[in-house]
Amino acid sequence: MTTHVVWFRNDLRVVDHAALNHACERANTDGGVVLPIYVIDPLWFGETANGFPRVCSERIRFLLESLRDLDRHLEGIGGRLRLFFGKTADVINHICEQVAADSISFYQEVATEELSLEGQVQERVKALGVRVFGHSPSTMCDWDHLPFSIPETPEVFTKFRRLVEKRGRFSSPLRQPNVFKSIEGLVSGEQRIDEIERLPCLQVDPPSDPPVSALFFRGGITSGAERLKHYLWDTDSLSRYKQTRNGMLRVDDSSKLSSWLAFGCLSAKQVMQEVNRYESERVKNDSTYWLKFELLWRDFFIVMSAKHGANLYRSGGLQNKQIEWFANHDFIESWKGGLTGYPLVDANMRELFHTGYMSNRGRQNVASFLTKNLGVDWRIGAEWFESRLIDHDPSLNYGNWNYAAGVGNDAREFRWFNINKQAATYDPGGDYVRRWIPELAEVATEWIHRPWQMSLSLQKQYGCVLGVDYPEPIVDLFHSADVNRQRHDQAANRDQMLATQSLLKF
Ligand code: FAD
Repeated sequence: MTTHVVWFRNDLRVVDHAALNHACERANTDGGVVLPIYVIDPLWFGETANGFPRVCSERIRFLLESLRDLDRHLEGIGGRLRLFFGKTADVINHICEQVAADSISFYQEVATEELSLEGQVQERVKALGVRVFGHSPSTMCDWDHLPFSIPETPEVFTKFRRLVEKRGRFSSPLRQPNVFKSIEGLVSGEQRIDEIERLPCLQVDPPSDPPVSALFFRGGITSGAERLKHYLWDTDSLSRYKQTRNGMLRVDDSSKLSSWLAFGCLSAKQVMQEVNRYESERVKNDSTYWLKFELLWRDFFIVMSAKHGANLYRSGGLQNKQIEWFANHDFIESWKGGLTGYPLVDANMRELFHTGYMSNRGRQNVASFLTKNLGVDWRIGAEWFESRLIDHDPSLNYGNWNYAAGVGNDAREFRWFNINKQAATYDPGGDYVRRWIPELAEVATEWIHRPWQMSLSLQKQYGCVLGVDYPEPIVDLFHSADVNRQRHDQAANRDQMLATQSLLKF
């Protein structure tokens, strides 16, 4: 009997799953069985280049919940998810050898590390005579019908979006496969989920205080579908998305779908299909369009990652702009710990630390502050995000950081976020800051975003003495932006000079 292996990766679902469907079709045709597998690689639990843990507890919890839920869904159609722990290529090679696999199907990834892993697996199993079926990455627009080749993808989002909206194909999600025949008995090396959960590297901390989104972001197909239903049908929040999406405080300010998308519990096509249905059955407006617009940003960064490969991760970014970045230890620790003295930055950094989530508005502000005010190497920020975010996706994270740091491909002049202005616009009453910075809880709204301007007697009155209860600002906002602007300009001039010199040589 033939065995068709399905290697689940960041696609922990059963609907809209090309690799699972493909294996089931093959098994139906040749009377074989399907073997769904998931490998937890010790590589994930190492440290980033700057010594941060590569995954946080919240992300591990989300993964384990997603695996349990995927297993339940697979059981409903005849299979079970088999879990393994070890070096991915070794484990998959061992499985294929043991079951004399006929084929292996999986979704291809675009980030460099994932691609290299994929390459190792292919090489090993091909040597065993296993047929390999890599399926195109899961995006909202059909990867195989993009209106340009990957190397010719436009560098600027607006151009990308216009072309894709006009000439791209947006097919419906694939249906869940019919009941399939699964391999019987245990596969050697397989571990039960409760055994996996006991592995030291997968131990999760109890939810921190306050537990907020550790409970809110529950991994799995079921909770992803519940969140989508809540955001669209139960609360109609989608119909207000364009007006609320920059909010930082409320759970329904934005869709909060990113973690389910990052683990593939939901596909972008499933979200798109549901938004289309909402548009035809309830409301169609700017907000409903805007969610699809944001999902196109996701597609854009995934395609950019496929186009630029390792360049996405270098200091000079996509532009290879040679900015002299700092790695000032005190600045980095203050930023990570939410102790910069700028309440908007600090509240966001604390939310990230406690929950594994930060809004898009928050991410843009803290990234701007780190790179354009503190002058710190953007890759340290990206690594910290990698370490703390539940929804971490290398293409989206490093892609967005490239743009925030001014080394992405559409960056021309020095753009930075004025934290004071942003705070006044997006947290006018200071509720978000009070939510995450208890030291400032009693401070009046007038001073909440500029506590450094309070007199000592006001500080005492509000129970927040600067330098004692809460830090003084670690840099002057405008002076630091000016200093960093000069460094960016110098880099741009240097790059321009080098480009001219190399032209003159020919
Ligand atoms: P919504 O506003 O409801 O948007 C819906 C979906 O659209 C999101 O879930 C996401 O899939 C997509 N989307 C929205 N904004 C962006 C964007 N700027 N780029 C790409 N896709 C987008 N998102 C991640 O999923 N993983 C990351 O690792 C990540 N790192 C980021 C790092 C920085 C510095 C910045 C500025 C943004 C980053 N983002 C990342 C994008 C964005 O901030 C999050 O997707 C969003 O905040 C998630 O909340 P939401 O699901 O409520 O978003």
